[in-house]
Amino acid sequence: MKSVVLYDAGKTELRDMPVPEIGDGDILIEVKAAGICGGDIHFYDGTMEGMGEYPMILGHEFAGIIAKKGKNVDPCWKIGDRVVSENTGYACGRCPACQEGNFVSCEQRGTLGVSMDGGFTKYVKIPEQILRLYPNCLFHIPENIGFDEATVLEPSSNAYKAVIQEGGIMPGDVVVVFGAGTLGLQSVQLSKIAGASKIILIGLSGDKTTRFPLGQKLGATHCLAADETDNIVSVVRELAGPIGVALTIDAAGAPICLYQATEITRSIGRVIRIGMNDAPYGYGMNHLNEKSLIIRGHMGYNTVSWRQCIALAEAGILDLKSIISHHMPLDEFDKGFQITISQEATKVILTPIE
Ligand SMILES: [Zn+2]
Ligand SMILES: [Zn+2]
Repeated sequence: MKSVVLYDAGKTELRDMPVPEIGDGDILIEVKAAGICGGDIHFYDGTMEGMGEYPMILGHEFAGIIAKKGKNVDPCWKIGDRVVSENTGYACGRCPACQEGNFVSCEQRGTLGVSMDGGFTKYVKIPEQILRLYPNCLFHIPENIGFDEATVLEPSSNAYKAVIQEGGIMPGDVVVVFGAGTLGLQSVQLSKIAGASKIILIGLSGDKTTRFPLGQKLGATHCLAADETDNIVSVVRELAGPIGVALTIDAAGAPICLYQATEITRSIGRVIRIGMNDAPYGYGMNHLNEKSLIIRGHMGYNTVSWRQCIALAEAGILDLKSIISHHMPLDEFDKGFQITISQEATKVILTPIE
């Protein structure tokens, strides 16, 4: 099966890989669509090394149908079922996170497409171990949601956890979102769904052509290009008005964004950091004390995030489609990565080839 594999740090190619063997407790998914994530770029350009053994098939946002199942698999999963993977491929079941049922935060988590074979291919195996420990690693896709859209449930669940579960948003809140990539845009949309009164999206001038208009479509009331705005902190405070900014989502990750987030956010407000960047922080931190701010590091989602997003999408409230900008066959993955890096694309969907 034709697969996009990472075979060394920063080295990817289309390679023929064997179809996984299925045991009595495993499920085999036939992939119908897989999305390129900003996180995949780190493997593609070599800023991050592969986390599993090489060669490894990339792709952690994928949906498809159940093509095969072992005889001991739970009867709730049937051949032909339309499913989306939440991409947990292994959890230890014993660490403090697993003890609380937070398998996505397992200290030894195996992630399909990150440390285990993923979805940029034709077939993916969901192993028996994870299906037994964590049956919610797979979800049925409602009939009115296409495979392409279903792949967007992953980043949407991510944003749901940040805005709703961690951000604790209340209807009427003013929300600021740094970063206009998929997670920033879906954070805008979930803030809108949750009843934010104002949503201020902060990006860069390069976002003005496609990402800002999309942000406005999804609910942003104001879009600001940080590189073209003098004193962005006072501009945002002015826009927010006396109610102040209750929640800032940092989907950008640069230290300056986190610092500005602590300046922008009101007293006893929350800052959720989704974006990642290794640069040293380098700014003062007294705002944390002075304003009793909560800063929370964010990673992933949990079953509740997925369940709620699926319900919102099925009801036509959560838009999964608008974020998808390009479709291409798997063998054009290089182009897909390039337009993701250049930010021409908001979300590229790859489809398997024979
Ligand atoms: Zn991702
Ligand atoms: Zn664990």
